[in-house]
Amino acid sequence: LSERLSGVFDRLTKQGALSEEDVKTALREVRVALLEADVSLPVARDFVKTVQDQATGQAVTKSVTPGQQVVKIVHDALVDVLRGEGEAGALKIDTPPAPILMVGLQGSGKTTTTAKLAKRLKERDGKRVLMASLDTNRPAAMEQLQILGAQIGVDTLPIVKGEDPVAIAKRAKTQASLGGYDVYMLDTAGRLHIDQELIQQAADVRDVVNPRETLLVVDGLTGQDAVNVATEFDDKIGVTGVVLTRMDGDGRGGAALSMRAVTGKPIRFVGLGEKMDALETFEPDRIAGRILGMGDIVALVEKAQETIEAEQAEKMMRRMVKGQFNMNDLRMQLEQMLKMGGMEGMMSMMPGMGKMAKQVEEAGFDDKVIKRQIALIQSMTKKERANPQLLQASRKKRIAAGAGMEVADLNKLLKMHRQMSDMMKKIGKMGKGKMLKQAMK
Ligand code: GDP
Ligand code: MG
Repeated sequence: LSERLSGVFDRLTKQGALSEEDVKTALREVRVALLEADVSLPVARDFVKTVQDQATGQAVTKSVTPGQQVVKIVHDALVDVLRGEGEAGALKIDTPPAPILMVGLQGSGKTTTTAKLAKRLKERDGKRVLMASLDTNRPAAMEQLQILGAQIGVDTLPIVKGEDPVAIAKRAKTQASLGGYDVYMLDTAGRLHIDQELIQQAADVRDVVNPRETLLVVDGLTGQDAVNVATEFDDKIGVTGVVLTRMDGDGRGGAALSMRAVTGKPIRFVGLGEKMDALETFEPDRIAGRILGMGDIVALVEKAQETIEAEQAEKMMRRMVKGQFNMNDLRMQLEQMLKMGGMEGMMSMMPGMGKMAKQVEEAGFDDKVIKRQIALIQSMTKKERANPQLLQASRKKRIAAGAGMEVADLNKLLKMHRQMSDMMKKIGKMGKGKMLKQAMK
């Protein structure tokens, strides 16, 4: 696929911005990549459409081709879709004993995942876990969980022959309370296909224990089917998260994207083998790379973008020491700050700025403040940004109003700009820029 793609990319001409034609050409290949990765057709179609609108007109980073740029845009959009709310591996299990219900089709990896997760909760989070098998359908299913429990040192509910799943669930609940467990996990029975009896059974169990988490275990290799399964389980039982198993196989993981797009449920973990340690927190980045199969391109574009940023920063520095530090530069600084998560790191590389960094921090310079300042700069005209001296009372009023703020806020921003630019001028004179150049190396 990568070869075919680079062929396409070579044909695309280099330009300043992505043309509709560039985007279309690249996205045709992306769409094929998605389908090959088992993303369902409607999801692939929707996704490509969204990206098409986003990508057209975007600037092409120097030294990459438009096609490569599109792949990067696609990759970022994929990560966005795949990322659920909250931290992937975090489960709501704070009030003991917290019930976790495991559901899914037969053979999806429920029992294995139950044990893997129990081991993880025990070892990473120091939880006391009790596991119970509610699988009364398959012979030896209960023994399977018991054996795994012994292997990983996690307790299992004693097996009582002839009990139905609801009775077992009740017993597990009681036992978990009495035994002082933090978590109890219920491994339910599955069928080869969804059927009403199975769903009803899981719903009955749900009503008895009122689970804190209901995790749907899905075979990551099943592709499109996975989505129907997820929708059905979610409608009837209510799913809080998904575990994708067999991601150690050849599958490209398209099910993950379909599942997120259709059900909106967060993917919490991925299973990466039969061993008890083979369970990892879901990482959207990794799956996105795998779905696209174009990891090299993404890395290449990221590298190119970093280089451009460095070049821009250098240009800005040069202007700064000449005393030409304008609002566009300030904005770039502020955006950089947002990225770096603080003023200190950025200022520390500039001699003489340490004190100011401190002042700024004491003034409560957090992300929200920075975003407001950027909004103020955005509210200025091009001319004003290039030449802040233009800002007299009437203009100030307009700018502040445009950003939904007070003139006083704008004055603060202007003061900061003045201070920074004075400081830069002084430094420029002092060392004729040598010091700065040194600092930037
Ligand atoms: P259940 O019917 O849903 O309980 O499925 P099981 O937990 O019994 O798993 C069925 C088979 O899949 C077993 O042989 C497991 O070892 C295997 N399995 C489960 N998860 C994974 C995984 O992430 N990777 C691989 N390669 N095999 C897995
Ligand atoms: Mg099982």
